[in-house]
Amino acid sequence: MIHLKSPQEIAVMRDANRIVAEILAELKARIIPGISTMYLNELAERLAVKRRARPAFKGYNGFPYALCASVNEEVVHGMPSRKRILREGDIISLDFGVIYRDYYGDAAITVPVGKVDDTSEALIQATEESLYQGIAQAVTGNRLSDISHAIQSYVEARGFSVVREFVGHGIGRSLHESPQIPNYGAPGLGVRLKTGMVLAIEPMINRGESGVEILADGWTAVTKDRQLSAHFEHSVAISDNRPEILSRL
Ligand code: MG
Repeated sequence: MIHLKSPQEIAVMRDANRIVAEILAELKARIIPGISTMYLNELAERLAVKRRARPAFKGYNGFPYALCASVNEEVVHGMPSRKRILREGDIISLDFGVIYRDYYGDAAITVPVGKVDDTSEALIQATEESLYQGIAQAVTGNRLSDISHAIQSYVEARGFSVVREFVGHGIGRSLHESPQIPNYGAPGLGVRLKTGMVLAIEPMINRGESGVEILADGWTAVTKDRQLSAHFEHSVAISDNRPEILSRL
């Protein structure tokens, strides 16, 4: 069942997602060669607590950290570590969520570490733009898979591939609500979008093949071919006129 949110609930989710966006912006500003992914995790947690929010991922299904930090071929759910030191030319995906006044916020960005090569830059840009292409379809009256199709067509036209194993999701009083939102598929299918739906749309895009596998830690998803992957996510409220991106500053 899809929970439709009242304007009052969306107002709280606006706050929750603004907190996420502010923290991601602060983490992004700190990314330089030489720092560890654990440093970013600890900073994210501190910044959330300072804003009276709780990191949403810590303890979620047993995930031990506040932040998912996925470097290079890591797709999602990368585990922060003191030993993982960022190097010039890496790319890092930061996925962060909070619980604020009983509602969840969730967003992700991919950031270059120092100077990266042109293909890495192109992958990051295409992934971010594919998110906005998807969001543009998140309007009342469209079908769910119109979002999916817009993301897939944009990405594949640029020679990149869409991860199939992970999907976007409804969000509200739970981190993962109905519906699931694949980042691929034919248009015109699935539920009709309605005012009051809040969707976390999150394309995960690979430079090479689309396949992924999970490392022995049980969490970290990496590309099978070990080529780079990027990830962007926004939580978006559907309203009568246009999609409202809750997790954008
Ligand atoms: Mg999400």
